Order: sequence, then C-alpha cells, then structure tokens
Amino acid sequence: VSDNVSVEKAQRLLLERTLINEIENVCLQDSAGRVLAGDILAGEDIPGFARSRVDGYAVSCSDVVKASKNYPVVLRVIEKVPAGHLPQKAVRSGTAIKVMTGALIPEGADAVIKFEDVTLQGECVSIFTPVEAKKNIILAGEDVAKGDVVAKRGTVITPAHFNIMSVLGLDILPVFARPKAAVIATGDELVDMHRPVKPGEIRNSNLYSLEAFIKNAGGVALPLGNTPDNKEILAERILQGFDAADMVITTGGASRGDYDIVKDTMDLLGAKSLFLNVDMRPGKGTAAFIKDDKLIISLSGNPAANMVSFQLFVVPVLKKMSGYQRVLPSEVTAILGESFTKSNKCREFLPARLNAKNGVLSVFFCGTGKSSMLQSMIGCHVLADIPAGSGPLAEGTRISTKMVGRVENFDD
Ligand code: AMP
Ligand code: MG
Repeated sequence: VSDNVSVEKAQRLLLERTLINEIENVCLQDSAGRVLAGDILAGEDIPGFARSRVDGYAVSCSDVVKASKNYPVVLRVIEKVPAGHLPQKAVRSGTAIKVMTGALIPEGADAVIKFEDVTLQGECVSIFTPVEAKKNIILAGEDVAKGDVVAKRGTVITPAHFNIMSVLGLDILPVFARPKAAVIATGDELVDMHRPVKPGEIRNSNLYSLEAFIKNAGGVALPLGNTPDNKEILAERILQGFDAADMVITTGGASRGDYDIVKDTMDLLGAKSLFLNVDMRPGKGTAAFIKDDKLIISLSGNPAANMVSFQLFVVPVLKKMSGYQRVLPSEVTAILGESFTKSNKCREFLPARLNAKNGVLSVFFCGTGKSSMLQSMIGCHVLADIPAGSGPLAEGTRISTKMVGRVENFDD
C-alpha cells in the first residue's frame, strides 16, 4: 500500500484504474458538454450544390472577357432566382440571370458579378470588367466534402458544433455515458440539512457541495445521505452505491483519529487500497480503494480539504470516465499578486483567483483575511501550488497554479 504519495502519483494510481464509460446516443439538442465517442464523418457535400456568395448576376466568364469601363458588355437578364428556388432557364451567350445570396447557380453560368458592380437599364445589365471563373461561387463540397471528419472522437461538443452537425442532418450523436458517482457522508455529528441541529451536530453540507461539483464536472450524482461512524453501516451503504453507480465518494472519517473507520470498512468489504494519504495540504487524508473494478475515493470531511481533493482527484476520474482526452487540471504559471506570508512544511494548494493586474496574469488568494474556510473556494479560478518548504513568498514570485474553475471575471 502506498502511503503519503505525491499528488501526481495519486492521480496516476487512480487514472490507471479508471474505466471509460459505455457509449450511448443523444440527440443533438442535448449533446452540449458531452464527449463524442466516435469520429463524425460528413455523409454529404456541404454545400450540396454550387451557390452564390452574393446578390448579383450569374454570367458566363467568356461573355465578358472584353468588358471595359468605356466598352461595357451588355447582357439581357432573363430570370431572377431567389435562394431556395430552382432556375428555370440556363445562361446562354448574351444573357445573365439575377441570383440572390445562397441561390443555386444556373446552368451555363460560371461566375457571379455583384449587383453593385453593374448598371441596370430596363432588362439589361452593363458589365464593365471581366470576371474570373468561380468568382463569388461557393462550390459544392467547398465547406465540407463528403467523407471528411468533421469532429473527432474525444471532442467535447460545444454550441459551435451545432451548425455543422445540423447542416449534415446529424440529429443523433454517439457520446460516452455520464459517470454516476454515489456520495456517502460519514460522521456521528452529521444531520441532514432539513433537520434541526442540536449542540454538537452539524449539517451535512459536503453532501450538497459534492452533488453540485459532480454535476458541474459532467457527472450524475447519487447522494446516499450520511451514516454514523460505524463500519458495518458504512459498508452496507457503499455496497448500495456500487449497485447504482460507477464509483463511490465518501466524505469524513479522514482525520488521524477516526481514519480507521474508512480503512476498517474497506477491509470489511475486501476493497484494496490504492493509496492512503497524499503529501499535500489541505486534503492529506485523501485515500482511494478499488473493489471489483470500481473506485472508492475517500475525502476529508473538512469542507475546504474536501473541495481541493475533489478537484485534484475526483474531477480527473470523472473526466476520464466521460471520455475526455485531457483529464488533469491545466497548469498555468502566473506571478503572485500579493505575498504569501506563511512558511509551509508541506506542499499546499490554495484557492486563488487570476487577475490581469496591469496586463500581467497575477494570483490572489481567496479566503484570506476574514472570510471563513467555507467560503474560500467561492470565485476561485485556480489552486495555487505552493511547494513544500518554500517559506514566505514575495509578491511577484512566479508560481504554478492548476485551473479548477471557469475564468469568468478576469479583471474583477
Ligand atoms: P473528518 O474527516 O470526519 O475527520 O471531519 C473533519 C471535519 O469536517 C470535522 O470538523 C467534521 O465535523 C467536518 N465534517 C465531516 N463531514 C462533514 C460533512 N459531510 N459536511 C460538513 N462538514 C463535515
Ligand atoms: Mg468524522
């Protein structure tokens, strides 16, 4: 058993044992945020026919080769074709057909001249310059040719994919199933949010935050309430989680004193441990186990530690299950926008915000000063990765950070 492993080793041990989910089909409208489980090929040319890029006149280039400012070529306009309508006639020598943007190019025409570049007298247009073939025409298959890969397996579907998918008529897409994670809180002191709290009791807040974090990471949360610090009851609840979910997350029982509850429960279940502690703060007590190919990640009950470990260990597992190619938080180097005054024996991950201070990407700690530990993750963009033994760090020091949130208010 690996005890007190590095963050990176703990992530590796977890990801080695993480299975990618089954494939399911979803309709396009529900696919944003899902991960494609197969390459998507164009089944047809886009556009499917040559069409006009502009409002203008479809001509044959050979008719206007001699056109000039002083000696314009005059063509008779024999038809007008709006987008979505078929031309009834063909362009023959001496004639032109008026076409609107998106209209099918009539037979006999090989270029379109913009209406601003001609003069119209009665049913004739005067053309003042020659035009090269294909001018202002979008050729069939120019955007996407039949057989092209329009999106690769592993791509996260975004609203920007909806045009190409719907233009191709792809209303059903293969994606990886969302990972289901059961959440169980353990602690004799815990009561449900909706119950009154007596002295010594606290509301089971991790259950709610974990549910929201799981959903936010693209998973399906299965909250299974709380159990007292009792290994038989906890084991029973974990088995219930295995029946209904792809993985189980427990919270609580992680401090040195009662840590054995989680460990004893795992022995009772015959679950094998992957690691028992991680060399970091907060979240040192994070542990992981495996039983019948299903992972159990045990997080500290301390809400701040719980959230940090969730980002570093649970999110990558959920992402791998969901079919993401990149599952670890992105690393961003930035400079400290304020000093870090403590000296620290252990590697620390501190919730922080990125801010473009005077155009330089700077890190400001969340939850310093008066705000409580419970509020420390609110508005956080990154976890500042403070190396072990680095001591106080001056403002301006370059540090590494791990992205954990969307950067929405960069200049705040
Ligand atoms: P533990 O990991 O069980 O040692 O808990 C560490 C601290 O977090 C203790 O102060 C617990 O009361 C608190 N705690 C444990 N579980 C939860 C929970 N589900 N929600 C909120 N706080 C919790
Ligand atoms: Mg406890």
